[in-house]
Amino acid sequence: MKKSVFFLSVLLSVAINAQKQEKDPEISEYVKLVSKDSLKANIEKFVSFGTRHTMSSTTDQEKGIGAARSWVLSKFRNYSKNSGGRMEFYLQNEDLQPDGKRINKVTNLGNAIALLKGTDPSDKRIVIISGHLDSRVSEVMNSTDYAPGANDDGSGVAAVIESARVLSKSKFPMSILFVAVSGEEQGLLGAKMLADKAKKENWEIEAVLNNDMIGNNSFDAPKNDGVPKLRVFSEGLSAFETEKSAAKIRNFGLENDGNARQLARYVKEIGEKYVKNIDIKLIYRNDRFLRGGDHTPFVNHGFTAVRLTDYYENYDHQHQDIRTENNKKYGDLIEFMDFDYLKTNTAVNVAVLANLAKSTPQPLNVLMDVKELSNSTKLSWEKPNSGKVKGYQVLIRETSSPVWTERIFTTEASITIPLSKDNYLFAVESISTSGNQSLPVIPKVSR
Ligand SMILES: [Zn+2]
Repeated sequence: MKKSVFFLSVLLSVAINAQKQEKDPEISEYVKLVSKDSLKANIEKFVSFGTRHTMSSTTDQEKGIGAARSWVLSKFRNYSKNSGGRMEFYLQNEDLQPDGKRINKVTNLGNAIALLKGTDPSDKRIVIISGHLDSRVSEVMNSTDYAPGANDDGSGVAAVIESARVLSKSKFPMSILFVAVSGEEQGLLGAKMLADKAKKENWEIEAVLNNDMIGNNSFDAPKNDGVPKLRVFSEGLSAFETEKSAAKIRNFGLENDGNARQLARYVKEIGEKYVKNIDIKLIYRNDRFLRGGDHTPFVNHGFTAVRLTDYYENYDHQHQDIRTENNKKYGDLIEFMDFDYLKTNTAVNVAVLANLAKSTPQPLNVLMDVKELSNSTKLSWEKPNSGKVKGYQVLIRETSSPVWTERIFTTEASITIPLSKDNYLFAVESISTSGNQSLPVIPKVSR
């Protein structure tokens, strides 16, 4: 008994140290390539379109949502030239009829999309990064007044475009979809159009990173010793939990281990590993009160999706007419942006996208053997159905811990750990030959 505990502590310290030290140099390089100047230039361009309201002009060459989405596609066109023919870009669009809600005339709804195709044809997984291109003022139906939408959500789309620029030359087994949706402010319409298509065509979406307002954190620094914080919102459990799996979740204490929550932990772990000076906060709810987000149409279809957002919101600079009242400026103007913060948050996205895209699929048939009473834990799994693995990483945390705290690497497909399954939570990740981890899998109980 003593011997096994000693063995474990040595094993864990080796594993933890290895984890802390080993960075993928390719990902560190991508993180360095993220440019504040590029992000700023993108947002300067967005605000120049006057308004990007969903019902604004789609035919004017310089103003309105049509000109904005054409410009996003022109950026994707430029990056596709570096991709060796692997980046495609297109406008997903359809005409909406007045709906008695937030659409009051026939409106061409359009999502500007780039797909960086994976190099492994047997790997169908896709990771999505999204932001919303449309903007608004105080009145949600006003499609003509100046609505710069610098932070909401110029920041998210700038991150999408910058990620496409940085990653366009890369060769990853998994595909990445870069998306600037429209219709967010009119009821998440563009995200729904894309999520519906993904559902209908059975896309294998590994993860969705929805970025909505990630470049204005002006209230943060004084309260946090200058270390900026980024929120990741994730739902605890999918709406698709059946009665039977809900019973298992209750019995086994897995209320905090749904797919979106696993993705949120992964964003925190990988983001903080590669990007300096960011404190990623896990928020245990799908979104904020009274507000929506483009990850939700994906979540509603059972896909794994989270929202990345400023830690503090400045309500004077979102959904506001541009005006000055009592010497106070209102409106989502570029002057209130924090481009260092936006650069940091974009780098978090780039690190997570690249790490996921370089991973192999998750291990299959991950089981925890509970056939007998014991103070140890037996886990087993099978190799993923595509890609080459270097091995597997077993993640361990106390049941009350928000994040995984211990890691054990093994090349075997089973392990016995001298820790009681009653006292800890476990998960298993595939590690690709390039050293990148998949999203973790919570074991099923095998009796
Ligand atoms: Zn928004």
